[in-house]
Amino acid sequence: MLEVNGINVFYGKFQALWGPSLTVKKGEIVALIGPNGAGKTTTLKAISGLIKPSEGTIMFNNTRIDKLPPHQIAKLGIGLVPEGRQLFEKLTVHENLLMGAYLKSKSEVRDTLEFVFQLFPRLKERRNQLAGTLSGGEQQMLAVARALMLRPSLLMIDEMSLGLMPKLVSQLFKVVERIRDEGVSILIVEQHVESVLRMSNRGYLMEQGRIVLEGTGDEMLKSDYIKKVYLGV
Ligand code: ATP
Repeated sequence: MLEVNGINVFYGKFQALWGPSLTVKKGEIVALIGPNGAGKTTTLKAISGLIKPSEGTIMFNNTRIDKLPPHQIAKLGIGLVPEGRQLFEKLTVHENLLMGAYLKSKSEVRDTLEFVFQLFPRLKERRNQLAGTLSGGEQQMLAVARALMLRPSLLMIDEMSLGLMPKLVSQLFKVVERIRDEGVSILIVEQHVESVLRMSNRGYLMEQGRIVLEGTGDEMLKSDYIKKVYLGV
């Protein structure tokens, strides 16, 4: 459903992406891993339309999207959970969710709220609490829930587990699998290399703006290079 083909992205004169290509098929969880500064966030931003590649193409369900503005890309069904969550801290949980649903009708919003509260009962309990006063884990749940409010068919998640305790991380990973089981494809950028590859159908390793290795989750876990450099075994 998603095809990124050889995109180059520059920040001024600095070239952050050197022609990476990747795909996400329907029903897959695909992991994008790599060291800090490799270009993972930049790749997600390019897919969301927040920055424009100077070369290459991005196709989503056979529509070319790399020249479209972000709101149109969101409308086509691509959701982003950004790095650092970017919640409206002075608004309640409920209000944050409504902000995520700005393109939807009232009845759709009602149904979707029910859907996300089912995934995250904790958010339902805390629906009237200010987002800024939630715990780190709850804030991350809210960031994922907010992105789901547009009912994306592809959800991109950037560094969901940053700063969270391992137990919370594994809970969030379970929710990601449930979201996939609900029919949403997932492209996930993650530092917890081993856990993310375990749950992913496929993975890509990015270094210095290029894809240097790709394969199924299992193949990636068995790669000597990944073991040595990223898993320390
Ligand atoms: P991290 O895991 O640290 O978030 P990343 O793989 O997501 O890393 P990016 O954030 O995509 O990496 O950054 C790729 C490169 O582009 C880095 O060298 C970074 O310094 C640079 N870069 C990112 N955003 C900008 C910007 N707005 N202006 C200039 N350079 C940028």
